[in-house]
Amino acid sequence: MELDNIAYRVSYRGVKYPRLEFKTGELLFVLPYGYNSDELLKKHKSWILRKIEFIEDCLKNSSAKEIIERTDKELRDIVYSFAAKHSKELGLKLSNIYFREMRTKWASCSSKGNLTVNMLTKDLPAHLIEYVIFHEIGHLVERKHNDKFWGIVSKGFNNYQELEKDLFVYWFRFNNRV
Ligand SMILES: [Zn+2]
Repeated sequence: MELDNIAYRVSYRGVKYPRLEFKTGELLFVLPYGYNSDELLKKHKSWILRKIEFIEDCLKNSSAKEIIERTDKELRDIVYSFAAKHSKELGLKLSNIYFREMRTKWASCSSKGNLTVNMLTKDLPAHLIEYVIFHEIGHLVERKHNDKFWGIVSKGFNNYQELEKDLFVYWFRFNNRV
């Protein structure tokens, strides 16, 4: 794919450094005022092309993915049970679990142990909900997505790379629903 054909949006914001986002499956440049996007595009060309390939692959597979129908209560029950199981296993304590609609992630966990779960997880297969919970509890040990963090995650889910990719596929599917 030629760089000239890459579709992207530019958003100028009061940020210090330029960054690239793929949160919705579309390439977005978040740039400090006055920054030239061509420069960034050229500099990160191979990374961008790799990302685009990954996203196209996700979108291609997205309609084949199984969707589970759950009630809100069923989601809560399953999240509570996975949270209890894995926090015990990892020897970590969660303070509260909240459920709400989130625009950019499946879940988050504060350093105080407050787990917030995106209501969109409701239609995910159970093993992916379990993975999301485990991943977030892992952040109580390590905040960043570094080697230490993936080391913790791989102890529970050694196929985490595949699961992360599946979550991308579902993300695009659920966020492109009409
Ligand atoms: Zn994470």
